[in-house]
Amino acid sequence: MKPLWLSLLLITTLGITACSEAPPQVHKAKLFTLGTLVDISVLHQDEAATQQAVAIVESELAIINRQWHAWRDSPLTTINKQLAQGETVTIDAATYRFIKQAQTLAADSNQLFNPTIGSLVERWGFHSDDRPNSAPPTKENIDELLKQAPSMANITLTETTLSSNNPTVQFDFGAFGKGYAIDRAIEQLKQAGIENAIVNAGGDLRAIGSKGKQPWRIGVRHPTSAGVIAAIETDGDESVFTSGNYERFFDFEGKRYHHIIDPRSGYPANNAISVTVIHHNAATADAAATALFIAGVDEWPQIAQQMGIDKVMLIDEALTIYMTPQMAQRIHIEIDDAQSKVIGNDG
Ligand code: ADP
Ligand code: MG
Repeated sequence: MKPLWLSLLLITTLGITACSEAPPQVHKAKLFTLGTLVDISVLHQDEAATQQAVAIVESELAIINRQWHAWRDSPLTTINKQLAQGETVTIDAATYRFIKQAQTLAADSNQLFNPTIGSLVERWGFHSDDRPNSAPPTKENIDELLKQAPSMANITLTETTLSSNNPTVQFDFGAFGKGYAIDRAIEQLKQAGIENAIVNAGGDLRAIGSKGKQPWRIGVRHPTSAGVIAAIETDGDESVFTSGNYERFFDFEGKRYHHIIDPRSGYPANNAISVTVIHHNAATADAAATALFIAGVDEWPQIAQQMGIDKVMLIDEALTIYMTPQMAQRIHIEIDDAQSKVIGNDG
């Protein structure tokens, strides 16, 4: 053990160095919302302004979480009940913007991002805070739900009303709400004059500015083992979102069933195990990561192009890494034995 006087000396010396360079400290806040741990990091000279802005962000995230919660009683579950009864729902401006963006992204993804398949997601057991421990649905169950064919194309939206011509539409914004919330959070930080920050919800994030002289550095989780598979340094204002089969799943009779459902088959999508997207807008990155995960190895370049996404990394079951050239320029693969293929995303 170091003698006490040496420790004191070290602390004093470090203290003096810190004072003379006066580097701003990263202000950190953590809260549990949107089904995950949200980390807010802010680098800003004015600590009081930072604290005030972070408090505003925390309350906004809590409001969005409550508004769009798919299984606890929420304004969303009320909308779902109204749509099931064929009612026209009166909506406010924020709801209009939220649904409108989701509808556009769904159309651009050929409805692979389909936030109207709430009944299917619920039937798979994922409308729960806990891991499902029941059997998967039967084939008949799934076929019945597939026949109902709900999609965002069923939705008619005006700035004040929402209706569906298909009563089986049940919204579930699990693949989009986190991104939308992070966009609102970053908007509020910017409004408070903050230029350097990250809002990170369980590994999905949007970063602005930099960490002083260095860029913010982001790790992408390895899909099958502990640690990271890749690192990204963000550039300006960027979101990094990953959809993986390891996030929420259950095992039944030796087979794994995860939470990203292919709306065409009704089963968990199995043509990728992880997809990472970099895009300016977090809501777009969120929906795109989910859609490209479902599109899988063969179809992702086409869907990425339609969604206006040029930075994609997709990892398949064999741990082959597929990337767009734009992603390859930005990402650093952190494992030694990676098999990677750079693929143009022009179809
Ligand atoms: P995570 O929330 O773990 O980052 P995603 O963004 O991919 O993962 O969202 C997965 C969630 O989205 C599921 O838990 C479910 O609520 C919902 N979901 C599942 N399949 C689809 C789909 N095809 N389209 C839209 N949402 C989906
Ligand atoms: Mg998503």
